[in-house]
Amino acid sequence: MLSPVSSPGLRRLWTGFLDLLLPPRCLSCGATVATSGTLCATCWRGITFLAEPCCACCGYPFAFDVGAGGLCGACVSAPPEFDRARAAMRYDEASRPLVLALKHGDRLHLAPSLAQWMRRAGGAFMGEADLLVPVPLHWTRLFARRYNQAAVLALAIAKAGGPPVSADCLIRRRRTPPQGRKNAAARRRNVAGAFALRRPAEIAGKHIVLIDDVLTTGATVAECARVLKRAGAARVEVLALARTVRGEA
Ligand SMILES: [Zn+2]
Ligand SMILES: [Zn+2]
Repeated sequence: MLSPVSSPGLRRLWTGFLDLLLPPRCLSCGATVATSGTLCATCWRGITFLAEPCCACCGYPFAFDVGAGGLCGACVSAPPEFDRARAAMRYDEASRPLVLALKHGDRLHLAPSLAQWMRRAGGAFMGEADLLVPVPLHWTRLFARRYNQAAVLALAIAKAGGPPVSADCLIRRRRTPPQGRKNAAARRRNVAGAFALRRPAEIAGKHIVLIDDVLTTGATVAECARVLKRAGAARVEVLALARTVRGEA
């Protein structure tokens, strides 16, 4: 929000004044809350924030701690193209309104709070990251939607002290049908060859963090990671707002 005051004390007073005029609302359901940028108690309880213990590679949550470096069955049988992936919360009934609000609802004011959660989730690798690269939309979809929700999240993370964003080096050169209910193999085929790099030199030797809103099978980020690694990226990690946990929608 545009603030006419610069000193912290005055800014607090100004924020307090605005809160009186426009009481802060829960980011998800819109109920009145005490401070802006938060969830109400009910929504907060519903969200499953993801944390350790989890698969050291893809971040799949484990019920028990299996020790440092423990991998899930999927990562053992087919190691992904990216180095690590983490997501802030489980994609489910409770988190879906937040994800969809950012994607379709033009509620971009959510981005700073969601970016905070994502930074925390990516704590293991964010400190070493050189560049944030949002998963791109095809230009026709970007035109229809007016913004790329992954780029909005990446910019919010950068603004909160994260590494810089390169929003246009990775491009989607082919419009792919929505991944929808396709299985893992069909999703991989669907995105094969869909991405290209504009300036490969920008990527060489860099520690890249790919930013996306929702991870499902990881086929899209794996394809992006393959393109980035081919251009010489030293590491490619993935940071998402939410992820599905296998067996659930
Ligand atoms: Zn709520
Ligand atoms: Zn895994």
